[in-house]
Amino acid sequence: MPSFDVLIIGGGPGGYVCAFRAAQLGLSVALVDKRPTLGGTCLNVGCIPSKALLHATEHFAWARNHAAESGIKLGSVEIDVATLLKKKDTVVAKLTGGIAQLAKARKITVFTGTASFTGPKTVRVLADRKPETGDRTPAPDALDLTATAIVLATGSAPVELPFLKFDGHTIVSSDDAISFDAVPKKLVVVGGGAIGLELGSVWARLGSDVTVVEFLPKIIAAYDDDIVRNFTRLLQKQGLKIETGAKVTGVLKPEIGDRNPALEKPEGQSPIPTPQSAVLLAERDGKPLQFPADKILVAVGRRPYSDGLNLAAAGIELEDKRRIKVDTHLRTTAAGIWAIGDVVAGPMLAHKAEEDGAAVAEWIAGKAGHIDWDLVPAIVYTDPEVAGVGLGEDAAKAKGIAVKVGKFNFAANGRALASDADDGFVKLIADAKTDRLLGAQILGHGAGELISEVVAHMSYGGSAEDLARTIHAHPTMGEAVKEAALAVSKSALHAL
Ligand code: FAD
Repeated sequence: MPSFDVLIIGGGPGGYVCAFRAAQLGLSVALVDKRPTLGGTCLNVGCIPSKALLHATEHFAWARNHAAESGIKLGSVEIDVATLLKKKDTVVAKLTGGIAQLAKARKITVFTGTASFTGPKTVRVLADRKPETGDRTPAPDALDLTATAIVLATGSAPVELPFLKFDGHTIVSSDDAISFDAVPKKLVVVGGGAIGLELGSVWARLGSDVTVVEFLPKIIAAYDDDIVRNFTRLLQKQGLKIETGAKVTGVLKPEIGDRNPALEKPEGQSPIPTPQSAVLLAERDGKPLQFPADKILVAVGRRPYSDGLNLAAAGIELEDKRRIKVDTHLRTTAAGIWAIGDVVAGPMLAHKAEEDGAAVAEWIAGKAGHIDWDLVPAIVYTDPEVAGVGLGEDAAKAKGIAVKVGKFNFAANGRALASDADDGFVKLIADAKTDRLLGAQILGHGAGELISEVVAHMSYGGSAEDLARTIHAHPTMGEAVKEAALAVSKSALHAL
């Protein structure tokens, strides 16, 4: 039976980074993924394809709606969805191919197939697809592997609501919403989190009538109220309809048999006619709501994916139905088996999975791996973007932590004004006594890039004053971060 120092199941950002780091540290590594390409959810159907679509459609929307304001005459601006998708697929192929090349160069043995445990340290790989690249070793029908250390990096899958089952056509997940072959006339997005808002923005920019239906009283609920209020207003200005506090109860679809008869005649209401396209049913304060839709994107979160691994054969316990239980060093309940990324606790983000992967490789190699899970930034890549790290002002207040807050509006930043990017603000949260930075939230163009600076200062335990005394080039959007740091001690220079 082929044997390795490390066997990693799942080739997403968690798994492939773990493999790369382990190989760098001199270990022999096998990486198994059932997808024909490496990169997992992130590169194939997540972070990267969504950002390619966001990038192109942001330019499209600007050309259509704002170019003329700067004296740029373009005539008619049209979208060719097939070319848009082709470009997105090219970006994905370049990146997944690049990961395969790096794996090959690092002498990592990559197997394509579905892995499951047959014993405490044995894994069977069943080849269920033909590999698409020449760089990969096809698993025979069944191949048994063993390793000194095994890392589970099997990621996550979209959450499906019992009364809104994915059908791949009308009721879809993000996997489908990155590849609609035409702009849906009416798109209803269930869930006002990052994925729903990003993909809702993509199709709204292309002319779709988009309604976001959110159960909670606000979208992107983890952020402070002032950020969300302004963000909601800006999205609405772009044409997105946002319905908060709305509980989805069911759907009417044109096909007979898919309807829930109980939902067709809410008490005291006239019967809902059989629709031509789907109608999402919801209620707010006991009152029924209806949202007609050509497509319904269900983006209510993702669930850890540990299906089919036969974890019991290795003695690996779960902490709920699907999330793998790990300790503070990402060790599972079975000796020599680790788990990382979306399949364990923590934010379901690619960079968190990568950090988990690198640290576990170092721990396996006997080195001092390190991760600070309190400093994982999160970003919503809409326009403007929203970025956050650490503690928000509202959360600090709820916890009774005394904080000082510094805010600076992009409307007072020269680069932002010159770049049509004056919406939003930077907000820094510092400890009231020590001035130590506790968190940041940024609403603005490029917020996702700006947040890294705050993360770096926080990593070294920096204070608002440290950040305020850091020289920022002029004119840059980053100057707003420095001004917000000055504002923590009420000494912003370009605002009162
Ligand atoms: P995954 O990337 O999910 O990889 C797991 C891999 O394991 C998969 O390739 C799967 O095929 C394989 N696998 C599973 N079971 C088996 C098995 N039994 N045998 C063999 N292989 C198996 N995150 C960000 O940080 N930034 C973003 O902008 C962002 N945008 C996103 C947009 C969308 C639309 C989506 C859906 C997600 C987005 N994410 C984003 C989340 C990000 O994709 C995940 O957090 C990240 O991919 C998790 O990495 P992972 O390695 O844990 O798992």
